[in-house]
Amino acid sequence: MKSIDLRSDTVTLPPPEMRKAIAEAELGDDVFGDDPTVNRLEAISAEVMGKEAALLTTSGTQSNLTALLSHCQSGDEVIVGDEAHILHFEAGGAFALGGLGLRTVHNDERGRLDLDEVRQAVRSRDVHFPPTGLICVENTHNRCGGSVLSEDDLAAVRALADEYGLPVHLDGARLFNAAVALELPASRLAQYADSVSFSLCKGLACPIGSLLCGSRELIHRARRFRKMLGGGMRQAGIIAAAGVYALENMVDRLADDHANARVLAEGLAGIPGVNLIPPQTNLVYFTAEGWDLGELVRRLGGQGIICLNEGGAIRMVTHYGIDRGDVEEAALDVRSLLEKRA
Ligand SMILES: *Cc1c(COP(=O)(O)O)cnc(C)c1O
Repeated sequence: MKSIDLRSDTVTLPPPEMRKAIAEAELGDDVFGDDPTVNRLEAISAEVMGKEAALLTTSGTQSNLTALLSHCQSGDEVIVGDEAHILHFEAGGAFALGGLGLRTVHNDERGRLDLDEVRQAVRSRDVHFPPTGLICVENTHNRCGGSVLSEDDLAAVRALADEYGLPVHLDGARLFNAAVALELPASRLAQYADSVSFSLCKGLACPIGSLLCGSRELIHRARRFRKMLGGGMRQAGIIAAAGVYALENMVDRLADDHANARVLAEGLAGIPGVNLIPPQTNLVYFTAEGWDLGELVRRLGGQGIICLNEGGAIRMVTHYGIDRGDVEEAALDVRSLLEKRA
């Protein structure tokens, strides 16, 4: 039976050339700073993001928590959007391991922070209040449909943070999707943040890994927190080799994923009863009137179209390994199920 796995861009498998790069990677012990492939990946990543330094971590979750710990002190409050990945999907690490409060402000449907709310959320210096330590933004915004924050959106957050002397962390797990959608280098988006994390294991198709980028001083602090969180890895060049390959070969093709997402969305939008917002990148969310979405996901799964019921919508994600024929087929299968019922 066919299997078209649209659950996430994390299900991507490494291309053959990436596996070859992994097999041939030059290795050392990265905890001693001796793994040449890790050092190369960190140097390339810093350059791509326009930062002084970078740190390879095990996951986006580890990058984000490492960033929070590096910017803040225990007892601080971190301002995040109420749809932020850091708030919903990172196991509460900021609270549990960082002793940090997450103060939420409204994310609009495009993933932007409500700046008036941010302003109100920043604490004045008073013995009663937890100090505000950091503002976090997310681009592309996962729970807001893979939406893209523009340069202007990010610059506005930067300007506000500067007024209060606060650092900004950018959760850029899919920052390259935003950069490709805007046809800008990623560094143009990263310039408004003091630190940026990006994932290797989503659309870039690596098996493992994320990078945290920032100033030399911040990354120096981050290295100790990564160690504390269990992210000090030895011959991590095995992972880094995939990352180097990905940065050189897998970024521009994200445009194909975006084009396939548009084709999928157009196919779905033409089906009576389907509601969706046109995707800006590779995440497609839709609802189907009169359907229990869990049931619809099960029925599609029975036909080899694998997707998720997430937060009141069905999620289908395009990625390396999914082509135009696959998304056309997925849309046709949704249509036939809905029409059979109607
Ligand atoms: C996936 C994701 C992360 C976390 O990445 P993991 O590698 O799964 O820990 C962080 N932020 C956003 C926006 C993500 O989509």
